[in-house]
Amino acid sequence: MSGCKPKHPAAAPAYLSGLEPPATGQRVEMEGVTYKVAAPHGIDPASMFFVQVDVDKCMSCGECEAHCPTGAIQEMHPDGQRGVVDPAACVNCGQCLANCPFGAIHEEVSYVGEIFEKLRDPDTVVVSMPAPAVRYGLGECFGLPTGTYVGGKMHAALRRLGFDLIWDNEWAADVTIMEEGTELLERVKKGDKPLPQFTSCCPGWVKFAETYYPDLNDHLSTCKSPIGMLGSLAKTYGAEQSGIAGKKMYTVSIMPCVAKKFEGLRPEMDASGYRDIDATINTRELAWMIKQAGIDFMSLPEEEPDPALGMSTGAATIFGTSGGVMEAALRLAYEVLSGDTLANPDIKVVRAHEGLKTADIPVPNFGTVKVAVVSGLQNAAKLCDEVRAGKSPYHFIEVMTCPGGCVNGGGQPLEPGMLQSSLFRSTVAKINRRYTQRRVG
Ligand code: SF4
Ligand code: SF4
Repeated sequence: MSGCKPKHPAAAPAYLSGLEPPATGQRVEMEGVTYKVAAPHGIDPASMFFVQVDVDKCMSCGECEAHCPTGAIQEMHPDGQRGVVDPAACVNCGQCLANCPFGAIHEEVSYVGEIFEKLRDPDTVVVSMPAPAVRYGLGECFGLPTGTYVGGKMHAALRRLGFDLIWDNEWAADVTIMEEGTELLERVKKGDKPLPQFTSCCPGWVKFAETYYPDLNDHLSTCKSPIGMLGSLAKTYGAEQSGIAGKKMYTVSIMPCVAKKFEGLRPEMDASGYRDIDATINTRELAWMIKQAGIDFMSLPEEEPDPALGMSTGAATIFGTSGGVMEAALRLAYEVLSGDTLANPDIKVVRAHEGLKTADIPVPNFGTVKVAVVSGLQNAAKLCDEVRAGKSPYHFIEVMTCPGGCVNGGGQPLEPGMLQSSLFRSTVAKINRRYTQRRVG
């Protein structure tokens, strides 16, 4: 098995000996965004700010406030400069940051300094866990057209950075599909938990629901997100498969998102007996690390993730786009409820190109499964109000906080105009094509 042995000191990449990792508290610009270097551990994330406004850079234009789904960012100063007023109200989506035309909003958490330290520690096995959407955003930082798939080069870069293992979040997305699809089937068939079932993989949405609609908690899927599952499975099943003790592992979640930093710190994320996720970075930070290491990204070969927790199906790939989770879970539900094999696994009717899309899926031997796919929390709030009023007709509702889903996450390379339109369209087209090429069975 490649990459399944702890590194020998001599195996640490040469770049690490000459690299001075950024110190705690230092501010570092990464791909156009300022980050405060800080690696929190054991802190209640609900009390933390993950983004904040630099008052001296703020031009009081109000764009951030207009894009904020919760009202957490408001005027705080006499000249109209904004600020995130309350960490409890903020769902850490990063949409204010992505839409600030003046680069006045920074991230308050960055583990990059600690990760470099762990990469050169011979006693630590550093496990990288990249999300599906990262491989569609990373190439932009190296001059590639928006939405270019660079998964193979990303894996190669992670190895050259010194990550000991690549256990792919696409593998965990497959696990999530099985879990979430099975839970939906139980709710539909047994009626023991309320319908509709909401998806639970987007941490901004989960915090939004917990904060603003706590009475609907029983409607949220009880499944962890893919990265929540992968962190704990890495240190248990992965440890068993690789022969590496979970306590030696340092797991790094690599996300298109800011809110995943919040999720990684949630107190309950310790099912493995350790912290399931030790550090979380986003696409911009990974690109910066690759550049710091002097890696010529464009010359890298295409490489695969490591075995055991690295393989995946095409269904996992579509997790990165709005409608993808729904479509993947519906394929499972269709086959179990109908007893039929789905001839064409593309259920494109639920792939959302707008903020809200609904569909009726006829399932033989069952009836009609009614679903809704929503991105953007203002749209989600309307559906929550319907559920609260007992007027929701749906069985299953997928919610993604960011417009268009994770491909437009707050941790992706900045380009606000494209984030709203061409990134989404071009990425969905590529994801669909890749899914068709890779689907099995
Ligand atoms: S978008 Fe940026 S510049 Fe405009 S008010 Fe918000 S923080 Fe200030
Ligand atoms: S991160 Fe999201 S919720 Fe928080 S202030 Fe920014 S836009 Fe609002």
